[in-house]
Amino acid sequence: MNRFVYLDNNATTSISSEIYEEIKPFLTLQYGNPSSPYGFGRKVREEIIKARENIAKLITAKSKQIVFNSGATEGNCSAINSGIKNFPNKKKIITTTVEHSSILEYCKLLAKSGYEVAYIPVDENGNLNLNKLEKEIDKNTAVVSIQYANNETGVVLDISGINKLISKKKKEYDFMFCMDMVQALGKRKVDVAKLKVDLASFSGHKIHALKGSGFMYVREPNKFIPMITGHQENNLRGGTENVCGIVALGKAAELLFNNETEISVIQELRNYLEEEVEKLFPLCVINGKRADRLCNTTSLSFTNTSGNELMFALEKEGICVSTGSACNSESSEPSHVLVAMRVKYPANTIRISLSNSTTKGEIDYLIQSLKKYFKNN
Ligand code: PLP
Repeated sequence: MNRFVYLDNNATTSISSEIYEEIKPFLTLQYGNPSSPYGFGRKVREEIIKARENIAKLITAKSKQIVFNSGATEGNCSAINSGIKNFPNKKKIITTTVEHSSILEYCKLLAKSGYEVAYIPVDENGNLNLNKLEKEIDKNTAVVSIQYANNETGVVLDISGINKLISKKKKEYDFMFCMDMVQALGKRKVDVAKLKVDLASFSGHKIHALKGSGFMYVREPNKFIPMITGHQENNLRGGTENVCGIVALGKAAELLFNNETEISVIQELRNYLEEEVEKLFPLCVINGKRADRLCNTTSLSFTNTSGNELMFALEKEGICVSTGSACNSESSEPSHVLVAMRVKYPANTIRISLSNSTTKGEIDYLIQSLKKYFKNN
């Protein structure tokens, strides 16, 4: 293997050098507990305050609406949990067929304890059926949980349509609107103040910060019922803080302020890749191509190879791509997202996801490697 090309940035990202430098003191000398009353602890607490302010600014929230946690799996489960606890007499949860497994698995568990779960379908472009969503929201609904953007295809849902619908329905019924915003952060301008969202989850390792770190946006902190109790995070999430994770998130936010140029560079490179693929492999389908999509993601279905075979062949060339979500990579089932979109060959699919460090040279190398593979297979 002569090269290493990482093109699986929706699974995780590298830790940026600026973030690495920022957290070093907290791995070594500044190990105080942020809850300690003396200066050694207080100094660390001040860094957490700073990180919270940066994160709040990035998503147009207030500092007190940010709750640091262990990542978006916790965030998604905590959001739904808080929603159902707020409405003990309501027994219905509404989500979509294309959510991340962290939502789907928790919904499955809740279904076993008596909750009705309605799954709103998408069309072949990955767009959500808003008519079905409108019909499903009723007086028994405790939670509506919808992703902002899909991790496998990059399809961004019709956020303004969803927002309007949620506003309208909130005039009739009271429920919690939760959003998994993991894949949008850093790739879209996220402005929670403009959304009707009550609770949103985000993850550190998708934005060049640390694994096992993340945060929630909580619109009304006084209504949030924590899953993990304790005095930290203003009583909203117990446990000694993951200081390095939080400091890294604060720095990541700073690096993402005004990153519009970076987004358009990534998008140009992704579009270049897709144009070349369409020229070379006319039968290849770009899943969700006609929808609004994130700048960095492409999901490619080929007619004549299995996604797994292609993924491992690319690995031999030193290239990392995936066949779907990293969380489902051990499953032999085709991706539930692609099945929901009625993709013709869901098992023949690879996902390529770029980052701000992806170069044109790397994309050319991927294209050459695809050419080589299809010549020999
Ligand atoms: N939601 C989406 C859309 C994701 O892509 C992921 C990670 O793959 C998660 C949730 C889970 O995030 P975490 O790894 O921080 O638990």
